[in-house]
Amino acid sequence: MNKKTIKDVDVNGKRALVRVDFNVPMENGEVTDDRRIRAALPTIQYLLDHGAAVILMSHLGRPKDAPDPKYQLDAAGVRLSELLGRPVTKLNDTIGPEVKSAVMAMKPGDVILLENTRFYKQEKKNDPGFSEQLAELGEVYVNDAFGSAHRAHASTAGVTDTLRPAVAGFLLEKEIEYLGGALSNPGHPFIAIMGGAKISDKISVIENLLSKVDGLLIGGGMANTFFVAQGHSVGKSLVEEEAIDTAKKLLAEYGDKLILPVDCTIAPEFKADAEAKVVPVDEVPDGWMILDIGPASIAHFANRLNGAKTVVWNGPMGVFEFPRFAEGTFAIAKVLAELDGATTIIGGGDSAAAVEQSGLAEKMSHISTGGGASLEFLEGKVLPGVAALDDK
Ligand code: ADP
Ligand code: MG
Repeated sequence: MNKKTIKDVDVNGKRALVRVDFNVPMENGEVTDDRRIRAALPTIQYLLDHGAAVILMSHLGRPKDAPDPKYQLDAAGVRLSELLGRPVTKLNDTIGPEVKSAVMAMKPGDVILLENTRFYKQEKKNDPGFSEQLAELGEVYVNDAFGSAHRAHASTAGVTDTLRPAVAGFLLEKEIEYLGGALSNPGHPFIAIMGGAKISDKISVIENLLSKVDGLLIGGGMANTFFVAQGHSVGKSLVEEEAIDTAKKLLAEYGDKLILPVDCTIAPEFKADAEAKVVPVDEVPDGWMILDIGPASIAHFANRLNGAKTVVWNGPMGVFEFPRFAEGTFAIAKVLAELDGATTIIGGGDSAAAVEQSGLAEKMSHISTGGGASLEFLEGKVLPGVAALDDK
């Protein structure tokens, strides 16, 4: 990792302005899943233990560039206070004279949570004036919001124009170490698994990974487009006509690395309790659709994963939201969980949710907290929120 982290700077007696990802699911004003808040605790706790006052900023949801009670961060502040076991002062604004005076009165060990950064339209515009008003609040900038690092917003990038040092928190560091390590220095065999609904979202990821991996397993809805490219008929399965040529090109260029399912679980309709049956991939009847990989594919994939030293997985193998069509996804999670001495990395929002549901999350080396950010990273793009930080 070539960026400075909080361990590289002296934070004692300083005000640390920390971008976190408290974009948590909420229902009736309560946080229903506090994983993102817990993921930020090591950084917050480290700063407090080392004599800093901590000013936290985050976005929540998609407010329409103006304050909206539904997207206030109060509940996140309450939950954070419980988890930290110390008071957290939630302010009702993000910038302005009242925020500034509250912040200037802070003592080491104090924690302030600013209001939702996206209540200001200047946040997403990366407005220099707004960035500067945020920057004035801190003496050190820390970014620990990997999930927002692919956005050049005021709180993720603009602040660093006037506030240095600018360093990574532990969560951001871990993300870059795992994802970056897989891309730049993977243990071999390096196998990638791609799935999910659409191939068009992920063509750049597939292309970038194909140049680095020893094998790429394709499942999920995106496999259908490859089947069509091979000349199979897939009934009424999800297919992206406009991506068939790309699939053909990839098969021609990387045929030896691309590994496709050999059988699939099909259904006559897209429903949780639809009739399910298993057929070889070249025998999908008209009127049926592929909703999961089949048992022979699971065995085939498990065989290719055997002995792998690095595995990157993005995209479920089937419609795992329906238990009847979740078997392929959960079976692959189990194969990964049982690999010996392998680094296993899960990227993508739905993939992370599927692995959590499988109960095997603890067995993975790293589950990325950033859906879109992890995909952009795997495409080989430079994330603006990372680029903005101080080099080591
Ligand atoms: P991630 O968020 O991990 O990047 P995606 O968003 O690309 O993953 O894809 C997840 C979605 O793909 C899930 O909602 C799942 O139901 C859907 N999916 C997987 N396989 C199929 C399939 N064969 N047909 C239709 N949808 C599928
Ligand atoms: Mg998704």
